[in-house]
Amino acid sequence: MIPRIGITGLTRTVDRRRLTGVGQAYVSSVCAAGGLPLVLPPMTATDYGAAAAATLDGLILSGGADVDPAHYGAVPHPALGPVEPDRDAFELTLVAAARDLGLPILAICRGMQLVNVALGGTLWQDLPTERPGNVEHHPNGPRTHRAHRVDLVRGTAVASATDATSLEVNSLHHQGIRDLAPGLRATGHAPDGLVEAIEASAGGWLVGVQWHPEAFHEEPDSPDQHLFRSLIAAAGPTRERRPLTGSAR
Ligand code: MN
Repeated sequence: MIPRIGITGLTRTVDRRRLTGVGQAYVSSVCAAGGLPLVLPPMTATDYGAAAAATLDGLILSGGADVDPAHYGAVPHPALGPVEPDRDAFELTLVAAARDLGLPILAICRGMQLVNVALGGTLWQDLPTERPGNVEHHPNGPRTHRAHRVDLVRGTAVASATDATSLEVNSLHHQGIRDLAPGLRATGHAPDGLVEAIEASAGGWLVGVQWHPEAFHEEPDSPDQHLFRSLIAAAGPTRERRPLTGSAR
């Protein structure tokens, strides 16, 4: 049985139509790792987060727009990018439901920030102005450009998944984790000290990375792609616990 992996999607206007979907790189990464990718567009009915989580074996929170700072009690910074209220609302309910179920979660870039906010943490809204340092976290260049190092904490889920204590990663973000939420721990840092990887201290496999491992889907043996394999390895047992039919026996 192939583990069902939800990937949170976004909406964009293309050729004057509103379309919804996810970056193909996420789909390629999940397929290559042996999962069934299922796109989860922003859905705003109040119970869709719980309904979606109940159908899944694992979850990827994908990258995208800035999280509305109202969700962590901050006023908007002038450099805050456009926010997407429907997407924020859906993903916050989805994370709560997924955590209740103990679903394995891989949270990528915005996804890592969203998890931190969902669990009570805060964000830097604009690193260059609020937390200037000697690492460029949003250089120009291709998405596969490995922009800076991340040092991983030994014995953590991200170190185990990538079989590394240090990685060179891509970097496509202007926000970052400020105050870590209760129940999360920092498991990787950039040379400027910024949190680049997190995990949950309890309640199921939850790994967040500030970089974009899906961009390396054409390098199946890269440590980045091993993150997807670890997610799907964690989702397999979930699949066995929750068969498609016969929930009321
Ligand atoms: Mn970075």
